[in-house]
Amino acid sequence: MAQKSRVRTSGASCLLAAAGLALVILAGACGTSATLGAQSGAASGAPGGGSAASVAAQPGVTPASTPTHKVTPKATKSSRPKPAKTAATVTTVAQTSTAAGALIVYVDVGQGDSEIVKSGSWTGLIDGGPSGSAYAVESALGRLGVKRLDAVVATHMHADHIDGLIDVVYDLRPRRAYVAGPVKSTLAAAFARAGTVVEQVRRGASLRFGALPAKVLSPAGISGDPNSDSVVILLQAGGKRFLFTGDVTGPNEAAVGEQLARGPPLAVLKVAHHGSAYSTTAAFLSQARPRFAVIEVGHNSYGHPSADTIARLRAAGARIYDTLKNGTITLSVSATGTLTWAFSRSSAPVTSGVGSAGSGSASSGSGSASAGGAAAGGASSAGNATVYVTATGECYHRSGCRYLSKSRIAIKLKDAKAQGYRPCSVCDPPQ
Ligand SMILES: [Zn+2]
Ligand SMILES: [Zn+2]
Repeated sequence: MAQKSRVRTSGASCLLAAAGLALVILAGACGTSATLGAQSGAASGAPGGGSAASVAAQPGVTPASTPTHKVTPKATKSSRPKPAKTAATVTTVAQTSTAAGALIVYVDVGQGDSEIVKSGSWTGLIDGGPSGSAYAVESALGRLGVKRLDAVVATHMHADHIDGLIDVVYDLRPRRAYVAGPVKSTLAAAFARAGTVVEQVRRGASLRFGALPAKVLSPAGISGDPNSDSVVILLQAGGKRFLFTGDVTGPNEAAVGEQLARGPPLAVLKVAHHGSAYSTTAAFLSQARPRFAVIEVGHNSYGHPSADTIARLRAAGARIYDTLKNGTITLSVSATGTLTWAFSRSSAPVTSGVGSAGSGSASSGSGSASAGGAAAGGASSAGNATVYVTATGECYHRSGCRYLSKSRIAIKLKDAKAQGYRPCSVCDPPQ
């Protein structure tokens, strides 16, 4: 009964990126790895928690339901203590041409993947987490006022991405689904029941997520290995680039890296395969150049996220969040490229992974990786030290740094870090 869904194939000839979505890279304002856009935390107008909260929780719908209903891969519901909804923010401002903004929610579904992309009244869902995740996913959608999905992407047919999606498909009847390769029969049945148009996509396909262009970067063909064959999507919003990777690995990840190397750096990388050591290679990161990285991960026995992966991400200069430590992560992208982050749990970045010295948990703040320099640490008096930022840079500096020649804005170290500034690698300011 599975195959009622209409199927059609999308090539590279579909809708193209709207004009006016030109990406603008301003030269990195400090000596670290290439960075995207310009930044001015102070000028963003969204330094407090208020705006983030108002973005994350739109009016109406699902009243005070907790955003972090945690589900494990075995579908046992481990109800966590209800988190106070912290609304810490990190803000980045870029001057770009006009472009549509977006809301991206990395839903905490435990050990699995599920990301919501909202563009105006259009809503899509990339994966739906493991069995038992529908509650978390539908709660997150409900808070956004979503009653029907415009599209879903099923990156690949592994249970930690698909089993929760099946229930969501029955409930929220997506109009369209993007897949690569054979569809699991239970999911195909759900698509058929929902009247979903199922579309096979391959590398080069240009999709539209509402007003946003979304390009399929992988797979070019079907190898039969589900992780490798994950649908990888590059989304443009607010003049910035956001990558969704599923569990891609191996040659297909390398091919994605090659495509990314031809464009500007990524604003946010959804890290492949829950931070597995076997994805997110240093070569890939040198091509992708992510400013932020989000890992969808829960308690697991696979060693996710790997300490090696965390170290590589930090070495690449990415600020890392994960759903195990930070909970459901809501990122609002303004039309001008301002990124505003909100977290249902901690707002502190992830600094270590599983297997790192002296740490058995992704939540530990005592990372052994030293490359990224975003050490949270128990900054006491050091946090009150004065450092300097510029109107357009992403780093903070010591007083005499050469990158302060054009603008020089004094700020307390702890505030600079809270706003997402990174230490300059040239002047090596206090951390
Ligand atoms: Zn997988
Ligand atoms: Zn997975």
